[in-house]
Amino acid sequence: MSCIFCRIVAGEIPAEIVARDEGAVAFLDIQPLADGHVVIVPRAHAARVEEMSAADAAALFRTVVRLVGPVRRALGADATTIGVNDGEASGQTIPHVHVHIVPRWQGDGAGTVHTIFPRRTKRTVAETAASIRKALGG
Ligand code: 5GP
Ligand code: ZN
Repeated sequence: MSCIFCRIVAGEIPAEIVARDEGAVAFLDIQPLADGHVVIVPRAHAARVEEMSAADAAALFRTVVRLVGPVRRALGADATTIGVNDGEASGQTIPHVHVHIVPRWQGDGAGTVHTIFPRRTKRTVAETAASIRKALGG
């Protein structure tokens, strides 16, 4: 098994695990962006979000919901940023789906999800909506 996160799930390599259930495992990021930076993974390997089964996706997000308050309280944080890098071009470095929970404090100097984008759009919102509806088969 070459996937690092599958190996953490299997207990083959150590990690600071903070929560686990039948569908998902949560552990501390080895290079935290802030104290309390947690990564949550589905137990079943899936490289990208769209490869997860509905049950695995539900289990993953159930663990996100379960953890977010305790992580915030444990760190005395005011808020959290919750994010997924989905695909190599987005910056995903480990091809096993994972949700980052990063604690946030008022005035901590970090940006928002919006600040990672240069806003170079080429299409109108209406055109884009039509394309997506078509791709969905609607
Ligand atoms: P990505 O960039 O793919 O969204 O995030 C991958 C995250 O996994 C990074 O924040 C990185 O620090 C973390 N990471 C990589 N290898 C390990 C590891 O072996 N153990 C733990 N706990 N985290 C890891
Ligand atoms: Zn994996």
